Amino acid sequence: MNDAVQSISLRNTVIETGEKFIMDILGVNFNFSDNKKLNRQFHSFAQQLSVWYSNDTPPKLASQDTRFTLELQKQKFRSLGLDVKVQVGKPAEHDPAPSSMSYSDSVFVNSSVAGNKRITMTIRNAQREIYNKTADSVICAIMQYPKEGIVPSPETPLCCPNCGAPSTLGKLETGCEYCNTKFLMDELYPKVMYYSVEVIYEYWSNYI
Ligand SMILES: [Zn+2]
Repeated sequence: MNDAVQSISLRNTVIETGEKFIMDILGVNFNFSDNKKLNRQFHSFAQQLSVWYSNDTPPKLASQDTRFTLELQKQKFRSLGLDVKVQVGKPAEHDPAPSSMSYSDSVFVNSSVAGNKRITMTIRNAQREIYNKTADSVICAIMQYPKEGIVPSPETPLCCPNCGAPSTLGKLETGCEYCNTKFLMDELYPKVMYYSVEVIYEYWSNYI
């Protein structure tokens, strides 16, 4: 083994040992199992995104940060005089179940769930449609929920899913201070902390 190879090999060993050490300390573990409940929630979130773009109903599964992102995006479009609609449906041909990968700390599990969707985006200005594109895409959503058998602290910061007020898990279970809505743990989790869309195959596109 020459010096360069030995150095790389040693470095990799140090990195692997370091990663294992950090993961042990954090209690992080990775899990690639198929989770049907999570898959259903992934499809629900995709559907909720379509509804959000059609009638402004915020996606229930979106975390407060994700909702803010969507609202800011819509405000930006409106300030430009644009009406953007995004329809999320089934892909035309291959429709395999979403795949997921999870990692957890001592309280929460974060699952990265990815699945195929056919997405049509249309953009209108005040007069007419100016853009229309349909593409098979992959949506990847990071969904967070408590570990099985673990109850997060009542002090866990959380925004009210109904009125958006900053609150805590405990307060939302006994009734939001502002809108008085009570929530069950099942209604507060999972939440989509982040999502991304990657175009895989573009069917047609009109820039009018
Ligand atoms: Zn509220």
